[in-house]
Amino acid sequence: MSKLIYLDPGHGGKDSGAVGYGRNEADDVLKMAKKVKSLLSAYNCKVGMTRTNDTYTSPKGKAEIANKAGADFFASFHRNSSSSSSSKGYETLVYANSGIKKEFANKVNAKMGSIGFTNRGTKVRTDLAVLHQTNMPAVLLELGFISNKKDNEIFVSKFDKIAEAITAVIVDVNNLKKVTTTSNASIKAGSTVKIKSGAKYGGASSGKSVSSAYIGKKYTVTKVQTNNGVKEALIKQLNSWVPTKYLSIV
Ligand SMILES: [Zn+2]
Repeated sequence: MSKLIYLDPGHGGKDSGAVGYGRNEADDVLKMAKKVKSLLSAYNCKVGMTRTNDTYTSPKGKAEIANKAGADFFASFHRNSSSSSSSKGYETLVYANSGIKKEFANKVNAKMGSIGFTNRGTKVRTDLAVLHQTNMPAVLLELGFISNKKDNEIFVSKFDKIAEAITAVIVDVNNLKKVTTTSNASIKAGSTVKIKSGAKYGGASSGKSVSSAYIGKKYTVTKVQTNNGVKEALIKQLNSWVPTKYLSIV
């Protein structure tokens, strides 16, 4: 059974969260959670989200969504705010600083520090519904202060690095493994692929061998289709259909 990771973009809908410098927390964290979800798709886990668009659910409601789904790990995404524009940095909130939550917090705090945020460490908060009403280990990430200009600059310019760091620590503490599937489900129109030796082409049924001259070179996929249950890709340069099991993405 693969683990179920739940990502909770804070706020949403009528609740924009904190605002500052033309940004709002609800949008920032939705974008980040979606990025982490896409990165987690490379691992042997399922990923759920408490919201995927700009809608409101109470924090208690969000905890219940994850509980009902039977999530194994819960990460709530937020951005901090202060009346003092000099307050800055990253921190992780936990209900109790122990176990997998402590491990997650320590590791992600350090990574955020090396990305450029001031590392504010781990804060114990027993009053937050997403932390104390969730049945599984839950952490809350405060991704810099939206009320601090520099933190916003880090959030924007290091967006991908932040997402990768969060993903890496979720993977680490949940002991997830990279998926090495041969189904090539990710091949799609626009993919750059190589053809493996032994490949057949001309569609699923014809079974003509691809000339060795074509093996190992880079080609572009025009489109994909399923033909008699076989997923195949139209190779632009050859104008031929090749089953995706004979292709590898480059
Ligand atoms: Zn928040």
